[in-house]
Amino acid sequence: MAGLSRGAPDKVKIKVRGDGRPLADSQSEIDHQEEQQAKAEAARAAAGRATNEELFARARQVLPGGVNSPVRAMRQVGLDPVFIESAEGAEVVDRDGRRYLDWVGSWGPMILGHTDPEVQEAIRSAAARGTSFGAATEAEVELGEEVAARMPSVEMIRMTSSGTEAAMTAARLARAVTAREVLVKFAGAYHGHSDGLLAEAGSGVATHGIPSGPGIPAAQAAGTVVVPWNDREAVAEALEKHEVAAVFAEPIAANMGVVPPDAGYLEFLREVTAKAGALLIFDEVITGFRVARGGAQELYGIDPDLTVMGKIIGGGLPAAAVGGPRDLMERLAPEGDVYQAGTLSGNPLAVAAGLTTLRRLDEDAYSRLAALTDRLRAGLEDLAGEHGLTVGSAPGLVTLFFSARPVRDFADAMATDRDRHAAFYRAMLERGIWLPPSQFEAWFVSLAQDEIQVDRTLMAAAEALAATDPRKAIA
Ligand code: PMP
Repeated sequence: MAGLSRGAPDKVKIKVRGDGRPLADSQSEIDHQEEQQAKAEAARAAAGRATNEELFARARQVLPGGVNSPVRAMRQVGLDPVFIESAEGAEVVDRDGRRYLDWVGSWGPMILGHTDPEVQEAIRSAAARGTSFGAATEAEVELGEEVAARMPSVEMIRMTSSGTEAAMTAARLARAVTAREVLVKFAGAYHGHSDGLLAEAGSGVATHGIPSGPGIPAAQAAGTVVVPWNDREAVAEALEKHEVAAVFAEPIAANMGVVPPDAGYLEFLREVTAKAGALLIFDEVITGFRVARGGAQELYGIDPDLTVMGKIIGGGLPAAAVGGPRDLMERLAPEGDVYQAGTLSGNPLAVAAGLTTLRRLDEDAYSRLAALTDRLRAGLEDLAGEHGLTVGSAPGLVTLFFSARPVRDFADAMATDRDRHAAFYRAMLERGIWLPPSQFEAWFVSLAQDEIQVDRTLMAAAEALAATDPRKAIA
């Protein structure tokens, strides 16, 4: 099957069983899948339907790189992007009918899994009443109340359509309330693609090795000071040297792979920002409503001044928000003088999906998610020990780092063995396991997964690591 290969040194063959089951547990099963896949491809060709490979060729004519977001490209792991046809529960199905066990979860929103019946019904029922009004609705009030009840530091929210916009709004608000301009961010953190926040970003910027300068005005770049994550002196020095409006932090870094804060680090950030008169902004786009009911701020017991939210708050539809206490939030127009707006902000479909998702995330859901994550983390840690790797994790989030050294910051993440990660990635995909195609992202655990699927993933990982560990290669 040539469709997914882009001429990487070791060309990949993806295998499926004809009955659509995802996993290859042994070589004989892989051979069986190959056979079945050849049959499925022949049937598709006879039906005149474009394959993944043909679709990618068309896509490249109209979409740069064939994708609408760079993290979907898979060139960094030596593959072409996979086109998804559908998804259900814990699985995604690609254009060519292959099923994968999904650890991407749309990069975070799908915490309940795909096509959850209750969320689907909420979207259908909202759509039946109209898809956008450009006017206020009751459900937006309910969503604001739900978030305020969960997040200790949030009394009010302003919704946007993307995390990028929510982070932009937080930056503007922070600059307005402090009458200062400089932002501090951490190397390897990602707060969306706005001019002032892209410097030394993780996520796709790091994955593709892209310099964050082109297209960004020098003045914007100069207004952002970048410091290493988990480094106290660097933050203290930045706050001393500059008139800082805000320190932006992912409270658990998850865009350089998962890198939790060192013990006491968030407390330290809270203390020094307060002392310096700068705001502390937690970007909880990934951690919010995932690591705990009230996000990382609840888990660590630290109240930021402002919180950026996204992903789960839209339940798989485009929604995000900035939130905080009333005195700060009421600086936003129309109550205050800081302008911010959006045609589709608080869109009824997105609000319905988000609200339904949040209401399902009760204490039981969080203990199940944590237990699943623990099982995955513990299994990966055993394998990591055997293969000279390390694991970063938080509830609902895991990264297997191809480095024997623990990863505490972006420099450590950049020092991982990306070639080895790519080989592992391809070996996992062959076995029907859909992981983020980057060393700098988290595996997202969902409530649609179960212990059996975790164990299947660990079995596949054991095989994939054994097959790709250069130390175990026969000389
Ligand atoms: N902040 C964080 C922590 C993120 O992970 C992301 C996206 N992955 C964003 C902001 C930007 O969100 P969006 O892609 O919705 O613009």
